[in-house]
Amino acid sequence: MTPDDFRQHGHALIDWIADYIEGVEQFPVASQVQPGDIRASLPEHPPAAAEPFTDVLADLDRVVMPGITHWQHPSFFAYFPGNSSYPAILGELAAAGLGVQGMSWVTSPACTEVETLMMDWMQELLGLPAKFLSTSAHGGGVIHGSASEATLASILAARWRATGGSINTTGDTSHLVAYATSQAHSSIEKGLRIAGIGTAQLRMVPHDGSFAMRVDELERMVADDIAAGLTPFWVCCTRGTTSSMAFDRVGLAAEVARRHGMWLHVDAAMSGIGALAPEHRWINDGLELADSYCTNPHKWMGVNFDCDLFYTADRAALLGALSILPEYLRSAAAASGAAIDYRDWQIPLGRRFRALKLWFTIRAGGVADAVEMIRRHVALTQQLAEWVRLDERFEIVAPHPLNLLCMRLTAGDEATDALIARANDSGAALFTRTVLDGVVACRVSIGGRTTDERHVRAAWQLLQSLAGEPT
Ligand SMILES: *Cc1c(COP(=O)(O)O)cnc(C)c1O
Repeated sequence: MTPDDFRQHGHALIDWIADYIEGVEQFPVASQVQPGDIRASLPEHPPAAAEPFTDVLADLDRVVMPGITHWQHPSFFAYFPGNSSYPAILGELAAAGLGVQGMSWVTSPACTEVETLMMDWMQELLGLPAKFLSTSAHGGGVIHGSASEATLASILAARWRATGGSINTTGDTSHLVAYATSQAHSSIEKGLRIAGIGTAQLRMVPHDGSFAMRVDELERMVADDIAAGLTPFWVCCTRGTTSSMAFDRVGLAAEVARRHGMWLHVDAAMSGIGALAPEHRWINDGLELADSYCTNPHKWMGVNFDCDLFYTADRAALLGALSILPEYLRSAAAASGAAIDYRDWQIPLGRRFRALKLWFTIRAGGVADAVEMIRRHVALTQQLAEWVRLDERFEIVAPHPLNLLCMRLTAGDEATDALIARANDSGAALFTRTVLDGVVACRVSIGGRTTDERHVRAAWQLLQSLAGEPT
């Protein structure tokens, strides 16, 4: 491809992206294809010769589009949102164009320094504790690809601290125990498995009627484990669980953690960004006592995947766990302590210039846009809850302080399952099923950048029309 070709096709692709985003409502929300359909529409073997690039771009429409589930669709109410925005897309493009690999400060100083500043800006914008600032005595932040990576990094730092660093040589984790509720994200168990702690050493702390951790039970379980000669080392509080958006009480859990020398991680992957709106700063309650924290601009801030903010108040433990310095990675800048090498803050060595899409988004007015969007989503969720309360066929099954509403049919699990399946098959909207304390529920997650009252109203009318007769 010549530079002129690149300019021509690049401009065409930008037009294609804008047309897609502005026209996304015309598509069914979920892809309708069967497994194997997309592959079957492509040649089984790679082309022997270069093809006209216009043909390649045309296949975005012909081949790729039928296999897309439209996360940017305003009637996407599934999972949690993964919204994007124009400035973030341009930041992503700029990062690809620069093609730098920011493993160390010296491999591209701007990649590290813009990222450090973005982490500090986000600390300020979200109202997070000052101990997470890069300029603080012991803390700092880094952009990870996902909350799952952040959780794993937190576990590894905690493991290092709990073993006085001996983990790096002995690898013995047999006495370590971790705690979370059954409502915590699957990445918690996965991270503990990867870290060699294992599922058997993860205690499921019971939750209360609002699906939040029972801290009295945490206290009891920790005491039992200590009595059994084990070492409680890590507890995860979730601020906004995936299933029902429940909020564990961080302050109370932190007291238990403090007393027993445990690391407290707070997973606010979805809801943490809500603190951009000052009236939702309660989301941060108790964070001043946490050892680490994560939230995802790639869910609710219009910064497309992948962009997770990971903060720690104990960077020495993180570096103790992850820093290895072979000769070929030594540099005078890092040795002097004047520069951060982010490879020591994460699992992989290599890293993309992810801070660009955050920087572009913030500078293009993305914070005001996100605050407006967050307020709209929270208001729409409360509006939907009012409508649901007026229909006796439905009931709400969990608190809904922000933008997730979990509802079910009073007719029972089978009826609720059938409702979700029929609504999703319609293509007009997309919901996710969950089970809360043994009861099937339909999650309505309101998080699309362009989701407005008419989309929520239409989704509710769809559910009502498919709900059947009252029992
Ligand atoms: C979405 C979510 C995760 C996983 O996020 P990734 O960035 O996809 O790894 C973890 N925890 C919570 C509470 C979430 O909402």
